[in-house]
Amino acid sequence: MSLPSSLVILGSTGSIGQQTLDVVRRHSNNYSIFALTAHKNISQLVKDCKEFKPRYAVVTDDSQFKPFLALCKEHNLGVKVLSGMEPLLWLVAQKEVDYVMAAIVGGAGLPSALAALKHDKTVLLANKEPLVMAGDLFTKALADGNGRLLPVDSEHNGLFQCLMSDDITGRLDYVNKLWLTASGGPFRGQALSTLNDVTVEQACKHPTWSMGQKVTIDSATLMNKALEVIEAYHLFQIEPARIGVLIHPQSTVHAMVEYIDGSVLAHMGEPDMRVPIAHALGYPKRLKSGVKPFSLLTNGGSLSFEPACLELYPSIAMAYKALESGLWASIVFNAANEVAVNAFLQKKIRFPSILAVIEQVMHDFEARIAKDATLECVIELDNEAKLFTSCILDKKYMM
Ligand code: NAD
Ligand code: MG
Repeated sequence: MSLPSSLVILGSTGSIGQQTLDVVRRHSNNYSIFALTAHKNISQLVKDCKEFKPRYAVVTDDSQFKPFLALCKEHNLGVKVLSGMEPLLWLVAQKEVDYVMAAIVGGAGLPSALAALKHDKTVLLANKEPLVMAGDLFTKALADGNGRLLPVDSEHNGLFQCLMSDDITGRLDYVNKLWLTASGGPFRGQALSTLNDVTVEQACKHPTWSMGQKVTIDSATLMNKALEVIEAYHLFQIEPARIGVLIHPQSTVHAMVEYIDGSVLAHMGEPDMRVPIAHALGYPKRLKSGVKPFSLLTNGGSLSFEPACLELYPSIAMAYKALESGLWASIVFNAANEVAVNAFLQKKIRFPSILAVIEQVMHDFEARIAKDATLECVIELDNEAKLFTSCILDKKYMM
């Protein structure tokens, strides 16, 4: 009998992290947990350490380190505890590690996800922001080494499945277009100008998916789809004009590949992230995910699609513009969004201000000459754009 595969879950206490543990729980003979990481939610981390007995637990927010140590003592946990972001780089490099689930939220996950790939691990990538910021670095790491990158974001996982081959670039000759679907979020079809008074609670009510807070707000502004267009561009190495977006409120079809002979392959399923998580974890085999059997008759058997109108959803238009504009643009686009979403969640700015401030920051960085695409340059520009966005928010957009 072969040894279980060893897994690091970066961001294990989040929505994706917890759903990954749920899939692992169903296959405990085949997967063992090498390390779990959490930023602040140490009570969940304690629970998961008890159940999954990882060798290491990392608390990335230093302020939670001592309280976590105390809990470990209280619960008699035999786990080795590390603190801060640095240990993530060390963990993902360990030779015992086979799989790394990248499920941290935001650009904070960039160094560890990239390091895992550079150390030839199989990276299950849910954390889309690092790819948006530094797609070229991921592409280079893939070309130079023996790591693998398996998309977990449901649309990209669906595309990966519909492309039906590891050699994705080879198959692109047969592809007309890659289609991503978007539910449209809680404010589908409503112009931004009418959304001035929406509350955080309303924006956090996603009609079909249950997710972490940031990606839920990104879904309400359609920034999630905008980031996903850039994610698809890097993952599949395809021109932006061959990536399309459709609004599909039922979230049943996650993605489609339109081939040159007129065939269209669609990926369908329940809107449950355990489907792509199980696919990536088991690939090329299939694992049971715990998701209820799928029926096309749900929602009265009807599926509907609309074009993603760029006037109604300006974030998607901004993504295509960012892709045209060069290296700096996607970094700044993502950074401004992260800061603006945080400010909205803290009830400091209004909902439409999220996109307004991103547009302004993009404009102000326009004259910038792209520097070398090293990790250090990407992080430097990310920090600069975040600082700049905070200043603009303070000056102009605070409620
Ligand atoms: P979440 O907020 O629920 O969880 C985030 C995890 O990252 C937590 O474990 C948290 O402790 C950790 N974390 C937060 N800030 C951190 C920091 N600064 N440094 C280190 N760790 C930190 O987020 P989520 O919804 O699970 O999303 C994770 C990623 O997956 C995001 O990039 C999101 O866009 C992507 N994604 C999520 C879903 C979903 O259904 N939730 C679907 C597709 C893609
Ligand atoms: Mg998605």
